[in-house]
Amino acid sequence: TETLAIKNLHVSVEGKPILHGVNLSINRGETHALMGPNGSGKSTLGAAVMGHPSYEVTEGSVTLGGVDMLELDASERARAGLFMAFQRPMAVPGVKMADFLRHATTNVRRPERKEGEELIPMREFRKELKEKMAQLRMDPEFARRYVNDGFSGGEMKRAEILQMAMLRPKFAILDETDSGLDVDAVRLASESIAQIGKEQLGGAQMGILIITHHDKLLERNTPDFTHVMLGGKIVETGGVELAQELYTSGYDRVRAAYPDAA
Ligand code: ADP
Ligand code: MG
Ligand code: MG
Repeated sequence: TETLAIKNLHVSVEGKPILHGVNLSINRGETHALMGPNGSGKSTLGAAVMGHPSYEVTEGSVTLGGVDMLELDASERARAGLFMAFQRPMAVPGVKMADFLRHATTNVRRPERKEGEELIPMREFRKELKEKMAQLRMDPEFARRYVNDGFSGGEMKRAEILQMAMLRPKFAILDETDSGLDVDAVRLASESIAQIGKEQLGGAQMGILIITHHDKLLERNTPDFTHVMLGGKIVETGGVELAQELYTSGYDRVRAAYPDAA
């Protein structure tokens, strides 16, 4: 099966080193939880893997199925099968959800397509969008709104999940998709992620990295592995019991155990 392999990853932002040698491998079909105190580098890891231009990789490698991701720009990485739901998604005023999703979906499904060439056919796209929105229990009206413009926190997160459902990535990184959501909304998000994650694509399920501080998002997405980030490094890896310990008791034990990282 394909693997997203992050090896000895060092990342700087504006010349300041943030990640100091992160190792993390995810196979298709696996769910990993990434936890750690605020400022430990979790979002930086996601952004660097996705190819955000502000995050400079100074050492190490990121490969998907053996293909070097660091050579690719962000849209090429999306085409290769990477997806990230951002902690703070950007608003795109003036662009409707449906149009945004049609462009994003075309980028991923039609790698040979050149700028200005046709998008995936409207009928085909609309049919699929409708199906996915029904599956995720979303109001069809939502597709006619401008991307993240005046969206509530919950709607922004739902929009990211819908995007993931349409793009059908091989690997998804979900950065605090539960932040700012009420309990019911988190449960719905958890169910939706589990549902999308179980769909087969080319004979394999999605590999998922869930960045969270809480239990609810993991309720339907039991992590096979839990990683703890501290000071720009993964200091511990365990199973579901490690996630349970951290969302119940916090990070004091981890900080005390790795004073050099903290
Ligand atoms: P986490 O997601 O674990 O809370 P982040 O990856 O957001 O942590 O941040 C890790 C560190 O990197 C913090 O000290 C943060 O201030 C810094 N950092 C992250 N992104 C930027 C950025 N775009 N500009 C400046 N500093 C950043
Ligand atoms: Mg944070
Ligand atoms: Mg973060």
